[in-house]
Amino acid sequence: MGRRKRRVRTQVAIIGAGPAGLFLAHLLARAGVDAVVVERRDREYVEARVRAGVLEQVTVDLMDRLGLGKRMHREGLVHEGTILAHDGGMFRIDMKGLTGGSTVMVYGQQEVMRDLFDAGEERGVQVVFDAEDVALHGLDGSSPHITWRKDGVEQLLDCDFVAGCDGYHGVSRGSMPESVRREYERVYPFGWLGILADVPPANHELIYCNHERGFALASMRSATRSRYYLQCPLDDRLEDWSDDRFWDELCLRLGDRAAAGVTRGPSFEKSIAPLRSFVSEPMRWGRLFLAGDAAHIVPPTGAKGLNLAASDVVFLAEALEQHYLEHSDAGIDGYSARALARVWKAERFSWWFTGLTHRFPETGPLEHRLQVAELDYIRDSRAAQTTLAENYVGLPIS
Ligand SMILES: Cc1cc2nc3c(=O)[nH]c(=O)nc-3n(C[C@H](O)[C@H](O)[C@H](O)COP(=O)(O)OP(=O)(O)OC[C@H]3O[C@@H](n4cnc5c(N)ncnc54)[C@H](O)[C@@H]3O)c2cc1C
Repeated sequence: MGRRKRRVRTQVAIIGAGPAGLFLAHLLARAGVDAVVVERRDREYVEARVRAGVLEQVTVDLMDRLGLGKRMHREGLVHEGTILAHDGGMFRIDMKGLTGGSTVMVYGQQEVMRDLFDAGEERGVQVVFDAEDVALHGLDGSSPHITWRKDGVEQLLDCDFVAGCDGYHGVSRGSMPESVRREYERVYPFGWLGILADVPPANHELIYCNHERGFALASMRSATRSRYYLQCPLDDRLEDWSDDRFWDELCLRLGDRAAAGVTRGPSFEKSIAPLRSFVSEPMRWGRLFLAGDAAHIVPPTGAKGLNLAASDVVFLAEALEQHYLEHSDAGIDGYSARALARVWKAERFSWWFTGLTHRFPETGPLEHRLQVAELDYIRDSRAAQTTLAENYVGLPIS
């Protein structure tokens, strides 16, 4: 057992230094609110995780607002449209034209994290790494605190509020009593097999493909780095997927036209990710707020996970600013409802887009024809394309 040695105080204790935690720390620092981020892993681990790659307009705006957008605008790829493909046919959704000018930015989560950490060091954002056994206390009273152990020494942080930004597997959500939580969940009966390879992308915009053998996605991280995904059974093993098998299957599903753009090469990262729709309500209990994956998970089809983490903490930072600077708790009281309203719309879109493009165990010939009919409808309907486009670029923060 370690010795209790350090006891310090801050205004907001933030659990987790992922996108939600660090965006919140930057927003609070800018508003002059004290915060300490407590992270279980080290910086290298958090920064190296290969995850999201598509930033909505609101996330791009947030990076700019925080003065973090310079490298993103230099190195990121602005996408004005996206491609849907099925049965060898393809059509484009002109996101920019249909939404009055909104686009998305291809800029990897690893790059976002690097920018957040680098600027955080310069701006004095406090992050405690390698914190073991983080625990939350007194959340339903007026003076909560959190504890952890670092290098064998017990640490205690007194605070006014706790922001649980510690992802799906963190401790924060479970610190809310079960009696006040309601969880909604769907685990999808397949996964995404993803690879990264240093080869030029198949196309300058993403291609989402519905094929009778399963979904495929041609994506990228840069003009020289491709990210491809294939829907696969959850019990598939990585060792069964040689690079050759992956490229053959990808080209088959993409169809001749899109496959003509594929450059094959050795993969340097390969993984299988499960897909889940999940929401835990409410997102506030007493002095605890949840934000990002700690409160909700979307299947990656709509590229919403990182973006929802960002919009949650925009709402939360506004609420905390109101509390400290305007002495009003209206934002704090309204946080959960405001964040959940946007979360549920993104959950709906991600669920719908997954259903449109994937093969489910119950997808027989009839269901496949219905998917194709819907894709044909979207191809021919400006209204349907507009609905897809405005959800894809991200609904406004309201
Ligand atoms: C394989 C994969 C691919 C993805 N692809 C996409 C995509 O293409 N597009 C997209 O938008 N989203 C994608 N996502 C989702 C996106 O990465 C997440 O939504 C995003 O990281 C959420 O940020 P967060 O800060 O809420 O949580 P996280 O990124 O999970 O960060 C939580 C942090 O809390 C820390 N932590 C956990 N437990 C504790 C604890 N007990 N104490 C202290 N710290 C703790 C963790 O170490 C972590 O650093 C993907 C996710 C995965 C796993």
